[in-house]
Amino acid sequence: MLFSSQGFSEELLKALEECGYQKLTPIQQQALPVAKRGQDILATAQTGTGKTAAFALPIINHLLKDNSPASPYTTKALILAPTRELVAQIADNISAYVKYTNLKVVSVYGGVKMSSQERKLSDGADIVVATPGRLWEHIELENLNIENISHLVFDEADRILDMGFISKVRAIMMEVNSSPQIMMFSATVSKQLNALAADILRKPKRIEVERANTTASTISHVLYPVDGDRKTELLAELIGRKNWQQVLVFVNYKETANNIVKELKLDGIKAVLCHGDRAQSARRRALDEFKSGQARVMVATDVAARGLDIESLPHVVNYDMPFLAEDYVHRIGRTGRAGQRGSAVSFVNREEELTVMQVEQLIGQRIKRIVQSGYEIQNRDAFLAKLNSKPAFKERRSRVNNPDKPKDDQFSAERRLRIQRHLKSGK
Ligand code: AMP
Repeated sequence: MLFSSQGFSEELLKALEECGYQKLTPIQQQALPVAKRGQDILATAQTGTGKTAAFALPIINHLLKDNSPASPYTTKALILAPTRELVAQIADNISAYVKYTNLKVVSVYGGVKMSSQERKLSDGADIVVATPGRLWEHIELENLNIENISHLVFDEADRILDMGFISKVRAIMMEVNSSPQIMMFSATVSKQLNALAADILRKPKRIEVERANTTASTISHVLYPVDGDRKTELLAELIGRKNWQQVLVFVNYKETANNIVKELKLDGIKAVLCHGDRAQSARRRALDEFKSGQARVMVATDVAARGLDIESLPHVVNYDMPFLAEDYVHRIGRTGRAGQRGSAVSFVNREEELTVMQVEQLIGQRIKRIVQSGYEIQNRDAFLAKLNSKPAFKERRSRVNNPDKPKDDQFSAERRLRIQRHLKSGK
């Protein structure tokens, strides 16, 4: 199916052509007709499927037909995403799509000054792309009124919830007086996500697509058993021996990321950092250096790297196994794109063996083990036997990604009901 047969305006088609889009991706084929009808959508799709265009193009198409100027301090469409990187990426994509139109896209996220964002909002926006926290600050300061939005999108809704933004999301929803078309995109589904969807979506069309070209056949999964304190050494050795030129390394803690970058530097390997403590501009610069090949390695935490679109990345390394098996899938989703082969390499110390079992269950395949000579772990079998015993398993299952994160839903049942009624009545 071609974009030229979608009834889009000339200026939109011209921009899409410049982006190199001709045929619709599967998610676009499914979502575009539903979105154009104005129906709510609940879609399961990962980054790399073309989901941004799937929700953005129908909105742009609608706004172009509407053609009324944006009032100061308001927006017509609101797109929520969990991280600043993802917000910036979505806003970049949409800006490319609306290049030949007069539509105004404003991005709103933390880590940068409020004032420049406020200035842009004061002119009025057609589309605002925002993280929930910073958006809420602007709403409270009356820099943005979202009462009358016609479209609302949740991108990576699962991650928005994982990051403890549920109460912000509900507060934001209370500000909406119109009855917007809502599109919710998520890589995974959970009870909490389904509950939110049931609360705010009206008869949504459920859409599910697999990430194109990220089947098990294009990604090889291997793991190296290694003691925790020798992981950096092993990383440097593999990069050198195997001549890896572009490696995205995932860690669980910012501190680990800082140390790896320092140590790789000593080995003459240029590595950059992508984590939440870095200023937005520094993170963007790091990403640009990594994408352009100036830096060979990017070390990232899950949250910071979520949703980043890095084309055909050959190697992803789990320096730490993620706490949640689902995050393994998110992480390795950066490799093996566009039909190219990708490798997912995990460094596993004893404590991480249980996550390996959970990951193997989730991805439905055994991960090949490679014991690198000189890095063997002692008494491994005894440890594995102990780990398989029930109490240890139970203990590990209670781990969460961020034990300090706020409680998910701080709204009373009564308030929840009020929000539901409010939204369903469309008043
Ligand atoms: P997304 O899943 O929205 O992050 O998109 C992943 C990548 O696919 C981005 O680089 C998009 O620019 C690109 N893309 C989206 N739709 C199409 C399309 N129909 N044809 C070619 N590339 C596309």
